[in-house]
Amino acid sequence: MSDIIQLLPDHVANQIAAGEVVQRPASVVKELLENAIDAQASHIKLLVKEAGKTRIQVIDDGIGMSVTDARLSFERHATSKIRKAEDLFQLDTKGFRGEALASIAAIAHVELKTKQAGDEVGTEIKIEGSEVSSQEVCVTPTGTSICVKNLFYNIPARRNFLKSNTVELRHIIDEFHRVAMVHPSIKFDMYHNDSEVFSLPVANHRQRIVHILGGKTNEKLVPIQEETDLVKISGFVGKPEFAKRSRGEQFFFVNNRFIKSAYLNHAVTSAFEGLCKEKTFPTYFVYLDVDPKSIDINIHPTKTEIKFDDEHSLYAMLRSTIKHSLGQFSVAPVLDFNK
Ligand code: ADP
Ligand code: MG
Repeated sequence: MSDIIQLLPDHVANQIAAGEVVQRPASVVKELLENAIDAQASHIKLLVKEAGKTRIQVIDDGIGMSVTDARLSFERHATSKIRKAEDLFQLDTKGFRGEALASIAAIAHVELKTKQAGDEVGTEIKIEGSEVSSQEVCVTPTGTSICVKNLFYNIPARRNFLKSNTVELRHIIDEFHRVAMVHPSIKFDMYHNDSEVFSLPVANHRQRIVHILGGKTNEKLVPIQEETDLVKISGFVGKPEFAKRSRGEQFFFVNNRFIKSAYLNHAVTSAFEGLCKEKTFPTYFVYLDVDPKSIDINIHPTKTEIKFDDEHSLYAMLRSTIKHSLGQFSVAPVLDFNK
């Protein structure tokens, strides 16, 4: 008899976890933006080069990290956001898995600069191959800057699998929109290859959507609003005549987190029944606030799927709220004269 099982070294475990968390440059963007928000930033800058393939940097003016925390932040399962299992059921932060930075550091070169308010100097850490290659004291503003270079440099298969810069940049912009749309009170800037792509001032939800999607969006939007014991619904739906041939402008946010839900999408679409032209998709920006105890976010590492305790009631409520709003704004049905 011989024993053959061994515990994997940390950097191998991190690389495996990275396979789930980081599919493409946009996944890194999402994780870094979410960390900046959790750090209570009021201004977040995203700078990317070559659609994130060579460089992704997020600079925030949030709470920053101490020297010890800066080191720890790259360890797997190291997090300041939860302490015990029960905390999973009352999350008020985007992060909680403590996996993102460890995963990213396993598959890219990472440079971190961070300083807490009140400290005179900050910490600069460089990481290569999951190992800290240098750590120094540095002069840096309060907040955090994380720069991720050469993504997938050590996983050629993944690197080769990346799509064209146009496609990868599209994914990054989509993530940027999803995050920016739920946080209009945060100022966001995005640059690609040193040119400004977005500069979003502090705004309300409606203004933020319009800043992102362009001036013409404003006239399309019909507000929705409902509050019950189960859920607070707010946001906007597009007037049916503006329904699009693609699904590009459909957004659900639950407790300030972008999610995908075919079931709730059906609720919205069915509220539009008979109002939109065939083969078009209604625009919507639906914000749902529910008791954190009534949902489970920990279904998938990317956290874009959620389990609701009472999906059926949510469906019914969403559908009737939207129907009501469409009716109130006296949106006439689009008559199809060919029928
Ligand atoms: P999680 O967000 O799930 O906690 P991460 O790996 O993304 O895990 O980050 C690990 C920890 O590093 C966070 O819990 C937080 O304490 C710290 N951290 C990461 N990014 C920032 C940031 N931009 N500002 C301040 N602290 C940060
Ligand atoms: Mg995180």
